[in-house]
Amino acid sequence: MTSNRKLRPETLLAQAAHFIDRTTGAVVPPVHTSVTFARDQNYEPIGDAIYARYGGPNCVDVENILTTLDGGAGAQLFSSGLAAMAALWETVATGQHIVAPNVMYFGAQQWLQRICARRGIGLTIYDATDPSSLERAIRPGQTVVVWVETPSNPTWDITDIAAAARLAHKAGAILGVDSTAAPPVTTRALDLGADIVFYSATKYLNGHSDVLAGMLVTRQDNELWAEIKDIRKLSGALPGPFEASLLLRGLRTLSLRYARASDNALRFARHFSNHPKIETVLYPGLETHPGHDIARRQMTGGFGGMMSVLVRGDEQAALGVVKRLELFIPATSLGGVESLVEHRRTIEGPDSGVAPNLLRFSIGIEAAEDLIEDLDLALEGV
Ligand SMILES: *Cc1c(COP(=O)(O)O)cnc(C)c1O
Repeated sequence: MTSNRKLRPETLLAQAAHFIDRTTGAVVPPVHTSVTFARDQNYEPIGDAIYARYGGPNCVDVENILTTLDGGAGAQLFSSGLAAMAALWETVATGQHIVAPNVMYFGAQQWLQRICARRGIGLTIYDATDPSSLERAIRPGQTVVVWVETPSNPTWDITDIAAAARLAHKAGAILGVDSTAAPPVTTRALDLGADIVFYSATKYLNGHSDVLAGMLVTRQDNELWAEIKDIRKLSGALPGPFEASLLLRGLRTLSLRYARASDNALRFARHFSNHPKIETVLYPGLETHPGHDIARRQMTGGFGGMMSVLVRGDEQAALGVVKRLELFIPATSLGGVESLVEHRRTIEGPDSGVAPNLLRFSIGIEAAEDLIEDLDLALEGV
């Protein structure tokens, strides 16, 4: 593109990397399998790449799109969501302090606890549903990272990103937001004051359950960002060119997939919110959800496909429903085109704080009627 037009997210995504190969005319960027990149006669690198561990052209294509979509100053692609998060924790020194929510992606919380214990980093867990709890958890001068996950897995509570950013900044800390369930087609966390936004690209960004990847996007190109880039460069925690290329392909349909999943999920949530065999539907798109008003402000492109339902009865009742579902695939993960169901308590084990009758649904892009019928029939049987 020669002009400097400001494109809308749908256009940026559909034309991801807007590519025309000047020698072949190909409109899809090639997969660059080369791990090393040559220099010219002045010994200057010919392109931007030097060595694959520093990031190759396929990774850079994906990073550029996310930088633009989020309005950031840079992005770094990692080999998994948790690898991306770990790069941020790696910047925190012994004696410093991190604040994180009680409802948070399970693996991330487990690892964060381990890192903090081993390295002598303070960690305070706050109640994600109570803004005053977040304020009390922050230690001005010692807290360096305030972590927010919104909507939070698996109860889909909503945290006010702008309010959290004010609290973090007042104390001299940065705000990091896990926005995996709210990709940049619905939430631009950096605009709301976040300093770093995180995505498990394994989920909505790729959307086809066939790539493991993670992403950090920064608001400012500062010292912290330079350190994060160094950490990735040295650890080599980035995906190969094939994965990056698949991720670019997935991104092309992100706005369509997310809109459709949001639409399906809202219909699904509304249908089951008054069902006699269901206690509650936890979905930020429902007017009855405690975080609905904030969600309406900070999820402007839809509430997404993630929700949980509390089945009336105990763990056995919930597992009985899972067994009777035919369309929903019983598997972990989320944000793919196919709908999934998961009994979180079983996955997390006996220490889990998740309600035993909670089922987590990742609503995909199928016909909403078929998904509704599947759960209707399964509930009839229990
Ligand atoms: C999946 C997920 C992660 C971890 O990402 P991986 O790609 O599995 O490493 C972190 N946060 C949330 C909210 C997730 O759903």
